[in-house]
Amino acid sequence: MSRPYPPHDLATFSDLEMMDRFVPAPDLRSWIRMTFLNEDSKLYNPDHAHLRDAALGILWTNCDNSRNMRAVVGQAELMPPMAMGKWQKARAEQQIADWFDGMPDFLLTFSAPAAAGMDDPSFCALVEHELYHCAQKLDDYGMPKFKQDGTPSFAIRGHDVEEFVGVVARYGAEAAGVSAMVDAAQRAPMIGRASIDGACGTCLRAVA
Ligand SMILES: [Zn+2]
Repeated sequence: MSRPYPPHDLATFSDLEMMDRFVPAPDLRSWIRMTFLNEDSKLYNPDHAHLRDAALGILWTNCDNSRNMRAVVGQAELMPPMAMGKWQKARAEQQIADWFDGMPDFLLTFSAPAAAGMDDPSFCALVEHELYHCAQKLDDYGMPKFKQDGTPSFAIRGHDVEEFVGVVARYGAEAAGVSAMVDAAQRAPMIGRASIDGACGTCLRAVA
C-alpha cells in the first residue's frame, strides 16, 4: 500500500487567501495501521503493539506552527482534549468526534507542507516519532496498565532524550544522560532505506 500524501491544496503553507485548515486523513490512518501495527509488515514495530487497541484520529494541516525557532511538523495528543473552559472543551470534543465518528484515544496531526516535501524514510521516521509519544500507562510495578474493561490505559510519553549538542560535546554522553541514544545511533539502523523503499511502493519514484 503506497504512502498517502496530503491533499494538494494543503501542501503549501497558508498564504493570506488560504485559511488554516485541519482535514481528517483516514487513508493515512489505514496506512499507519498496515505499515507499523500489522505483524506481517516489514516495518512492524512491536513497541507500538498496544496501539492495535487504540483509536487513532489523524489530521493533516497547513497551519504553520513554528515555536522556539523550530517548525513543528507533527504532534500527538491524548484525547479527549483537556484544559479548556466548559464550552470550549465540549465544542472541541464535538468537532473531533464528528471528524472521526467518535472520540479517538489519540489525535495525531501532521504538517501537510512538511510531509509533502519528505522522502519516505523521513516521513516514516516522523510518523513513528509521533507513535512513540502514544504510550500505554505503567502501573506502580512498571507493568502496562489496563482500564477496568481490559483495554489499555493510554498516556503521552515524553522524548527519551532532551539535551543540547554543546553539553554532550563538553561533558560526554554519559554525563549528559544520552548514552542509550548514542549507542543506538552508532549501530546500523534496523530499518534501512532499502526496506522502506520496498515497503512503501512509492519510494522508488520518491528517492530515485
Ligand atoms: Zn516529539
